[in-house]
Amino acid sequence: MEEEKKESLNFIEQMIEKDLESGKHTSVVTRFPPEPNGYLHIGHAKSICLNFGLAQNYGGICNLRFDDTNPEKEDTEYVDSIKNDIKWLGFDWDDREYYASDYFDQLYEMAIKLIKKGFAYVDDLPADEFNKLKGTPTEPGTPSPYRDRSIEENLDLFGRMKEGDFKEGERVLRAKIDLSSPNMHMRDPILYRIKHMDHHRTGSDWCIYPTYDFAHGQSDSIENITHSLCTLEFEVHRPLYNWLIKELEIYPSEQTEFARLNLSYTVVSKRKLRELVEGNYVNGWDDPRMPTISGIKRRGFTPESIREFVRKTGVAKRDGLNDVALLEHAVREDLNAKTNRVFGIMDPLKLIITNWPEDKVEMLPAVNNPGDESAGSREMAFTRELYVDQADFMEDPPSPKKWYRLGPDREVRLKFGYIIKCTGFKKADDGTIEEIYAEYDPNTKSGHDTSGKKVKGTLGWVSAQHNINAEIRLYDRLFLSENMNDIDDDFKNHLNPDSLEINTKAVLEESLKNAKVGDQVQFERIGYFRVDEDSTPDKLVFNRTITLRDNWAKG
Ligand code: ATP
Ligand code: MG
Repeated sequence: MEEEKKESLNFIEQMIEKDLESGKHTSVVTRFPPEPNGYLHIGHAKSICLNFGLAQNYGGICNLRFDDTNPEKEDTEYVDSIKNDIKWLGFDWDDREYYASDYFDQLYEMAIKLIKKGFAYVDDLPADEFNKLKGTPTEPGTPSPYRDRSIEENLDLFGRMKEGDFKEGERVLRAKIDLSSPNMHMRDPILYRIKHMDHHRTGSDWCIYPTYDFAHGQSDSIENITHSLCTLEFEVHRPLYNWLIKELEIYPSEQTEFARLNLSYTVVSKRKLRELVEGNYVNGWDDPRMPTISGIKRRGFTPESIREFVRKTGVAKRDGLNDVALLEHAVREDLNAKTNRVFGIMDPLKLIITNWPEDKVEMLPAVNNPGDESAGSREMAFTRELYVDQADFMEDPPSPKKWYRLGPDREVRLKFGYIIKCTGFKKADDGTIEEIYAEYDPNTKSGHDTSGKKVKGTLGWVSAQHNINAEIRLYDRLFLSENMNDIDDDFKNHLNPDSLEINTKAVLEESLKNAKVGDQVQFERIGYFRVDEDSTPDKLVFNRTITLRDNWAKG
């Protein structure tokens, strides 16, 4: 048993268990470190589930830390959305809401310490000139003429950088490491740069800001993070991460990298998603077509399905591409269990039951969820005039073995109602079918059928008098190319022009008139839908979360 459990652990869990067993750590402290420069996306969900999930499983804690060291791109709007998204996913950081900017004083002191140890210097070389001297991975770099400044001069100049004596780009603080290292990040990386810019939290207190490399590892260390998990692109930063910890003699957090989540037909990069928002290719960060957490929430994906999807994708050491169908499958599974079935006719065709009295309304019980008795039932008004879907009728259908729905003389059951037989239809000059006519058999009432009749087709329907209209937004994939990391041209060339279709002619069963924003239903045979925030008291707006089955299947 024990062996089996070990094998199913991913490599990070194995590492953690080893660290706990050996006594290297007595508890697990992780963190989720977003930069508040955009909305979180499904890729971040992976990092969130991993960091918070590990803390949960091993009885540890996970901090939320905003990595806010780039004042020009960051904003409190993003801070707020990030917090909402993490909570929505089902995780909690209690009172451990931290900001790298809260550590600016400590980071400054650490920089002073490095200068005093002779491990950092103020460089006056403009960036492009430094880059010319920097060499290539196979050729060592040439030292900047300012590299051997005295400690006193460095302390003085760094202090004056902080006081605002210099212009942006005029000077930087660099670590003095190794100009011949094959790892370019070790060739005197920048630790501090001048930015005469207000910060969303520290206001005008600072005009020098630490770089990612100088802020991230030290923030981990300040928070006693035991396992600092990040995506593979930071692997090359790890030697610098470790060097800083060693030279600063601070708590030795350890960085471990895992593969990013990449999804087919999807872009997971804040920068690109921002481009879509700012260029009005979509209607905001929470457009239901967006892979942002706020977008998929509005679309109707559930936190449970996202957590399940992330679990299934596992934790890998090499980048790959996950099939978006796996995510959609998780959503369907979850919604199938949770949602009530209702009738919605997307493309209405009037059906007149000619032997049903003009004014008679019969209320028929309809089961809400066949898989969940506790969901109960509702009543549907059955009247002489109904709507079925245009797609449910064919003027000249193939044999009854191939076509179970309506056509002249064909019989079907109207779900929860009666068996009807089509007796005729009315056609407009342009060839469209305007109305169809049928007769019902009173002995075939659902649940009380004494007729012995057997029909193969069962149709959804809605009363022509007792129904509501709604706006139905049908979404398709936002991008047409499977691997959006593997394209050479502008990613926006791959946008699906038909990713949003708006249906305003649909009619829905009357029971939906009290639906509230956030309610989720399954329109029988059509798909899962969620009531959108754009709904008004006069008009409900539904988002199609996902079709019932994968109708995207290739070939
Ligand atoms: P983007 O590339 O979209 O801008 P980012 O990495 O710059 O993302 P951050 O806010 O810095 O965004 O990310 C916070 C955390 O989420 C980091 O630890 C990062 O490694 C992780 N993360 C970002 N994208 C993914 C992804 N696609 N899969 C897994 N983890 C991710
Ligand atoms: Mg980042």
